[in-house]
Amino acid sequence: REDALHETRHQPSVTLDGMAIQVCANAEFVEEMGDIRDSGAANVGLFRTEFLYLEDPEGTEDWLADNYTRAVKIIAPGQVIFRTLDIGGDKVDEQLASEQEPNPFLGWRGIRVSLGRRDMFKRQLRALLRAAAQGPIGIMFPMVSDVGEVRAAKELLDECANELSAEGYPPPQQVEIGAMIEIPSAALTADLIATEVDFFSLGTNDLVQYTLAVDRLNERVADLYSPTHPAVLRLIALTVEAARRAGIRVCICGEMAADVEVLPLLIGLGLDEISVSTGQIARVKHAIRKLNASECRSIIDACRHLGCPKEILGLSRDMAHEMY
Ligand code: PEP
Ligand code: MG
Repeated sequence: REDALHETRHQPSVTLDGMAIQVCANAEFVEEMGDIRDSGAANVGLFRTEFLYLEDPEGTEDWLADNYTRAVKIIAPGQVIFRTLDIGGDKVDEQLASEQEPNPFLGWRGIRVSLGRRDMFKRQLRALLRAAAQGPIGIMFPMVSDVGEVRAAKELLDECANELSAEGYPPPQQVEIGAMIEIPSAALTADLIATEVDFFSLGTNDLVQYTLAVDRLNERVADLYSPTHPAVLRLIALTVEAARRAGIRVCICGEMAADVEVLPLLIGLGLDEISVSTGQIARVKHAIRKLNASECRSIIDACRHLGCPKEILGLSRDMAHEMY
């Protein structure tokens, strides 16, 4: 069975009835890029840049650009989607967080920190644009709660691009802009945000926590943390619908994406891309190749009147067990 999975990894990621769904890799370190290239992943769907940042919070633009460039070169002509710093919440930086926050997950985190620390943000954006001279990249912003934040970040990005060009740096190849959809307000206004970006990426680890008011790290409420809660599925559906209308693609990069028992729901909801850790790529691809998108859509229809996350999970799990 391991051998069969190994074989699957370079096969097309298409459902039985012909719907293509890209499987991409989540990464945290440049050192993972070689394995990712060999894993069968189409692209790097999420590069969490905060880990590199935490290695050296004082790291210069040159140091960042070197590291990002190494990653881009290994994956090119594939795309690396870099997520700008998502410091805060569970990823605390002592230097930035001068005072303890009573509710870190509702506090100064992600794009809020970046927009509040313009110099630091510009250093990262300039380094990313420099790396983009070596291959296609995406830049996506975490913890977006409204379209204004995306506009403000894009203005800074433009400023960086103009500076680099005036300084004589080689022009970037393709740079796509994305927004993480991981706060309910972003999902509910996805139609407005869609006009500013090339793609969405659903961060369901946070979307579940913020939608259900269940701390993703708190063991006491772990049984209430339900990715198949109808509220979560409705927010995903809204996001996909907004993306369709705007003609942009939607990826999912939260842990939920690696759970092959909920994959029928994700395919039924119409996601274009699924990004998971490298070790999961073959398993997810194998599962996609065993499913019919039309049958997945029919379980989404069947779920419409179900209020209980367990019942919805049950329907999806039954299909998963039947098909793979
Ligand atoms: C998410 O929130 O689902 C996500 C992918 O990002 P992180 O887990 O880093 O918050
Ligand atoms: Mg997140």
